[in-house]
Amino acid sequence: MTSTFDVAIIGGGINGSSIAYQLSKRGRQVVLIEKNQLACEASSAAAGMLAAQAEIEQDGPLFQLALKSQAMFRELASELYETTGIDIEFVQKGIIKIAETDAIAEEIKKQVTFQQNWDPDIKWLNAHELHELEPSLSPDLPGGMYLPNDGHVMPAALSKAFAKAAIHFGAEILENTEVLSFLYEQERVIGVKTTFGDIHCHQVVLATGAWAAQLLQETGIGITVYPVKGECFSVKPETPIIERTIFSDKRCYFVPKRNGEIYIGATQVENTFDKNVTLEGIAALAERAIQLVPQIKDARWERVWAGVRPQTGDGLPYIGEHPFKKGLFMAAGHYRNGILLSPVTGKLVAGLLEGHPDEHLLSSFRIDRNNKMVH
Ligand SMILES: Cc1cc2nc3c(=O)[nH]c(=O)nc-3n(C[C@H](O)[C@H](O)[C@H](O)COP(=O)(O)OP(=O)(O)OC[C@H]3O[C@@H](n4cnc5c(N)ncnc54)[C@H](O)[C@@H]3O)c2cc1C
Repeated sequence: MTSTFDVAIIGGGINGSSIAYQLSKRGRQVVLIEKNQLACEASSAAAGMLAAQAEIEQDGPLFQLALKSQAMFRELASELYETTGIDIEFVQKGIIKIAETDAIAEEIKKQVTFQQNWDPDIKWLNAHELHELEPSLSPDLPGGMYLPNDGHVMPAALSKAFAKAAIHFGAEILENTEVLSFLYEQERVIGVKTTFGDIHCHQVVLATGAWAAQLLQETGIGITVYPVKGECFSVKPETPIIERTIFSDKRCYFVPKRNGEIYIGATQVENTFDKNVTLEGIAALAERAIQLVPQIKDARWERVWAGVRPQTGDGLPYIGEHPFKKGLFMAAGHYRNGILLSPVTGKLVAGLLEGHPDEHLLSSFRIDRNNKMVH
């Protein structure tokens, strides 16, 4: 192993791997350090929606970041396939954000007008049009917003493709290696202390998802990053029953994958790192799923899983440089949209480390935007 790296990235989830890819492609000597296995946490639990406009309902820095990242997927999918042979299963058949009541329909119609500013193809579907497009949806639904250009990917495949592409460009990957603390020379970070010894480098990126606050605490900064558990299940109907992603609200959506499986998510349980799947969570999700797509009750059961989303105090990710520890950077707290945001996160962090930050995009995601000094 190289003894001194240009950059050590802590956390082998989708964001750490995307950053490793972008930096190694630019010729930097990178080591990616993961305490368990690559993509073993949120990055393999996600449904993989790229739902910038279904998830985010108002303009602002997160919305703009999400749109920018969403637009990168088509090219990224072929770039990663050419470099690694991994197909991230990018599907762009659209999302329908359904209304369950007339009152919600009125709210969503206002959303259509707003969202058309960014994509004129977005439109409102009345009940008849909705059922023509997706006949398996409950006949009780009054309509929905159709986002024809939206899509989804396989999150674990994307995460592994980023890592494999990084290896292709010379990155080293250390799994089963936990970073315990930072190494300093005065106020500069010069490496990390791990369970297998010290690793020296010129720059460090903290990309540890829901675990990000712990290591940062020792640097004298207190930020709020906390876990929000999400439980999901999947089924496989004998023949496809929905073609597009169906998004009811943040607690119930259906994502039809290329292999015929439908991912159905997800519960929201705050402040727990426990990834056990509960009968209560899955039963409530299944009940709603059958109400919205009645035919789903006959589909073959496939599997259940859970993961931990990294939420922050103000709902925005932290992407930036440490305010007073030189050489230390962070990219964590992507909450419900870390798969969607991973391409742009990799590029932004690479630019930042190379000394040409995109100040305009990054300014709202600074580490010191609302933190407390802890000593
Ligand atoms: C049920 C569910 C559904 C979701 N659906 C979507 C979706 O449809 N679309 C979307 O865009 N997003 C979705 N998300 C959110 C998305 O999964 C996350 O935002 C994203 O995976 C976060 O990636 P990350 O790389 O920042 O963190 P993680 O994937 O959590 O990776 C962080 C890594 O850091 C490692 N680590 C922690 N501490 C250390 C240490 N000290 N040393 C070394 N390694 C360490 C961990 O082991 C972990 O592997 C969903 C999440 C869940 C749970």
